[in-house]
Amino acid sequence: MSKDVVMSTTAVPFTSTILGSPRIGPNRELKRAVEKYWAGRIDRDELESVAAGLRRDTWASLVAAGLDSVPVNTFSYYDQMLDTAVLVGALPPRVADVPDDLDRYFAAARGNDDIAPLEMTKWFDTNYHYIVPEIGPEATFTLNPDKVLGELEEARAQGITARPVVVGPITFLTLSKAVDGADAPLARLDDLIDVYSELLGLLADRGIEWVQLDEPVLVTDIVDNAAELAERTYNRLGGLAKRPSVFVATYFGELSDALPALARTPVEAIGVDLVAGTGAALGAVPELADKLLVAGVVDGRNIWRTDLEAALGTLSALREAAAAIVVSTSCSTLHVPYALDAEDDLDPALRSWLAFGFEKVTEVVALARGLKDGRDAISAEIAASHAAIESRKSDPRLNNSRVRERISAIVASGAKRGSADHRRAAQQDRLKLPALPTTTIGSYPQTSAIRIARADLRSGKIAAAEYERRMKAEIAEVIKLQEQLGLDVLVHGEPERNDMVQYFAEQLDGFFATQNGWVQSYGSRCVRPPILYGDVTRPKPMTVEWIMYAQSLTDKPVKGMLTGPVTILAWSFVRDDQPLADTAAQVALAIRDETVDLQSAGIAIIQVDEPALRELLPLRSKDKAAYLNWAVDAFRLSTSGVEDSTQIHTHLCYSEFGEVIGAIADLDADVTSIEAARSHMEVLGDLNAVGFSNSVGPGVYDIHSPRVPGVEEIATSLREALDAVPAERLWVNPDCGLKTRTTDEVTESLKHLVAAAAEVRGR
Ligand code: GLN
Ligand code: ZN
Repeated sequence: MSKDVVMSTTAVPFTSTILGSPRIGPNRELKRAVEKYWAGRIDRDELESVAAGLRRDTWASLVAAGLDSVPVNTFSYYDQMLDTAVLVGALPPRVADVPDDLDRYFAAARGNDDIAPLEMTKWFDTNYHYIVPEIGPEATFTLNPDKVLGELEEARAQGITARPVVVGPITFLTLSKAVDGADAPLARLDDLIDVYSELLGLLADRGIEWVQLDEPVLVTDIVDNAAELAERTYNRLGGLAKRPSVFVATYFGELSDALPALARTPVEAIGVDLVAGTGAALGAVPELADKLLVAGVVDGRNIWRTDLEAALGTLSALREAAAAIVVSTSCSTLHVPYALDAEDDLDPALRSWLAFGFEKVTEVVALARGLKDGRDAISAEIAASHAAIESRKSDPRLNNSRVRERISAIVASGAKRGSADHRRAAQQDRLKLPALPTTTIGSYPQTSAIRIARADLRSGKIAAAEYERRMKAEIAEVIKLQEQLGLDVLVHGEPERNDMVQYFAEQLDGFFATQNGWVQSYGSRCVRPPILYGDVTRPKPMTVEWIMYAQSLTDKPVKGMLTGPVTILAWSFVRDDQPLADTAAQVALAIRDETVDLQSAGIAIIQVDEPALRELLPLRSKDKAAYLNWAVDAFRLSTSGVEDSTQIHTHLCYSEFGEVIGAIADLDADVTSIEAARSHMEVLGDLNAVGFSNSVGPGVYDIHSPRVPGVEEIATSLREALDAVPAERLWVNPDCGLKTRTTDEVTESLKHLVAAAAEVRGR
């Protein structure tokens, strides 16, 4: 179909869609199939038939719900950035020799005995992780459209009006990584546009009317010339003689000056996120007058029911801004669970407040009908949404004045500890630790005995008392091991925790754990984030008994082990009816109460982990300082209830710490353990540069790898660290928790760690 024909059809554009959908399967069928394939238990045909079945069901349900344009190519065996790398022929040369294309794909994602995998990192500020494509100096791009054409073929056979979705060229290159001395990948934009041009031509040949190109990077400050890049790219793609109509989707924030730039190009549709952004500028862009505006009014990444009245108001107000309005989710619903009906244990009020992936589709469809036929056409839906919103607003569980008063009182009193010097002296008096104290980050290997005990408890095979007995046996093992190894500060090993956030969420009021609310975190890994719906309170101590038990077995100090407020928020679905800072303060108060109880139980050292501090960092520079302020305040609120002689530790990982390094210093923990093994201690210089002067434990070996580090290697790292930090302030520890390692690996590695510390102490 030629462009002219397509243009004439834009007079009857689509009216309702979503930007993408979950793909793991309503019961994690894809996860199971892919893992079986990796283990050699099913063959490729069987895997492909599971995948095709999931696609078919997804499309059928979207059509049945009433969407008039269905996104395809949003399915993935692992990740959409990796799919795009395959599409444009940008897999790294080191996988080229893997003969089978699917195995090559998985080798790039996960590595194999001979091939190191590509890196993985967070997709913007979500909990989804993508595979980072590598662009070397020799990289050439060639089109490999099999996946997208194959899915379109399937959709056609099913009679679906399909709209292929592809990561856009600006976003693809911006999120890729230059390797082997290549220039920044964006330098290759023009070459890559050639390949996209070829793709668009092929799609037009097949009669595809619309293609969606995702450019979320345009709402961030990762590139500083978003407007120029958008204009250059979409003038070229828009100017092609043979192509489908082009829909450029943006999400996770406000477009700012890339909006008028995109609007000046010949693309037919622009998508904006009206949940994360306000869309305030939309009325002032005259070039939108002949475009479709795809208005993301239904939140694609949180689980709350939409206020349909408000959303319809937003949509109606936009009518003048563009040629036509399409109702959509703000982003792909990849980030939310499939459907509410899988939850049979939900409090009815809470159920009425929620919308998962499927329910969001029905909201989009209702809004599209309301926009077309008027508010009265959906008055029943609006009434139901209104009732849910009123019930949520007035629910006493969201309005606990006592929590709010306690926070104000503590904040008013300063929430401060004594000076760092005073604390150091008081703690040394109490703990009498040697120079270069050795410790670990908290978890020990999750043995099969632990997993069996958890499964047995869940299935009712054993009672709580037996479970507790088995966990205590695990703790006793771990304490014995640490004493044998000669570590200075011990941990209980965290056997009772399935997950460092869920464990606390299950014990705090204000949280709800779903039964089947799985979302993809990366590849085949799925997580089930708790829902933080109400004011947070701690009905009773959460960790004290376990830690006291561990402490009763040893004369060495045992660290209390808690998860910090920012990390608890980052890995939960959070309420959207109050500022995140307020929610963080409530969680912080619960953690603070726990620290005070641990202290009363005689625990002298308490670690409050904040591995997700970097994760919630806003995408726009102007919003970063405010976030870091409340994040630091929440941490301090959670850790300032204890005496100066109680030592507060924190732990951070998963990051380039650059932008948060000042905040790390501001946390003012007495001891900070931090991932450093892979960055060769560089983080220490960065900490010095911001005036950090408390103690620090740079991770001296990488726990993400099964490799056991040698004594000399660790000693060398420690000596390197001593160039940046005096011995009185330096701790010795691995770079993260040990739960993914085997007991043998851990025993050997820690033996070497203790020996290296002894060697360097005596230097
Ligand atoms: N204390 C946790 C553990 O050791 C910290 C995990 C993390 O940093 N992600 O497992
Ligand atoms: Zn960590």
